Amino acid sequence: MKKKLLAAILCVATCACLLMGCGGSSSSDSAEGSSQADASAVTTVTEGVLTMATNAYFPPYEYYDGSEIVGIDAEIAKAVADKLGLELQIQDMEFDSIITAVQTGKVDIGLAGMTVTDERKQSVNFTDTYAEGIQSIIVKEGSDIKSADDLKGKKIGVQLSTTGDIYATDDYGKENVEEYNKGNDAVQALVTGKVDAVIIDNQPAISYVASNEGLVILDTEYVKEEYAGCISKDNEELLEAINGALAELKEDGTIQGILDKYIVSE
Ligand code: GLN
Repeated sequence: MKKKLLAAILCVATCACLLMGCGGSSSSDSAEGSSQADASAVTTVTEGVLTMATNAYFPPYEYYDGSEIVGIDAEIAKAVADKLGLELQIQDMEFDSIITAVQTGKVDIGLAGMTVTDERKQSVNFTDTYAEGIQSIIVKEGSDIKSADDLKGKKIGVQLSTTGDIYATDDYGKENVEEYNKGNDAVQALVTGKVDAVIIDNQPAISYVASNEGLVILDTEYVKEEYAGCISKDNEELLEAINGALAELKEDGTIQGILDKYIVSE
């Protein structure tokens, strides 16, 4: 509830700010008062380009359509880049490498259905959040695991360094957790009986269960989280510019439109 209240206050503050015209720069060709920032106003790894790191095996947030990376994060990043007058380039890498790539200045932003955590905040800045995630538990149909409590002593598959990995390790012990580089590898381990359950974000969970027969998602919300982009602590200017763009894209319904396009049922 507290989070909702805070979000409401932030939203009101943002709207008031937009109405009063503070913050964003406006250009003569902008429609409905939206601001189109000048690419030269922000410093990026490659001039004129917003370089985004992701792990493109996290549908519907990011996945391959042929050779192209598509999904919620790709579309949000494109909309943000357009607002900032930048070209978007996406680099696919292991989820585990994204924060380091951001920290070491190889990319401008990590956008990967990444959950905001206090630990990650020590390494990177997070943008304002743009979506909610839930950690879900996938099991085989007919499994005796019916709730999170039943996971005690079972083998749990996770994607390396994700919050699912962190929570599973904290709650059930490292010896019971099998880490895989890709969420799909964890799911295949469940299919072939190498693990008894997989803890993963709800939207990829829905997608994996739809594409693999005999799997079900338990009717329990293991942990609720919020997604945001991560940016180097050395580039506050880019953080502010991206937050400004995100605020406008929330305000004009673009972000909700992108979420609704990919997330059909909750
Ligand atoms: N939301 C999870 C995390 O941030 C998983 C993200 C992912 O696998 N792309 O750890």
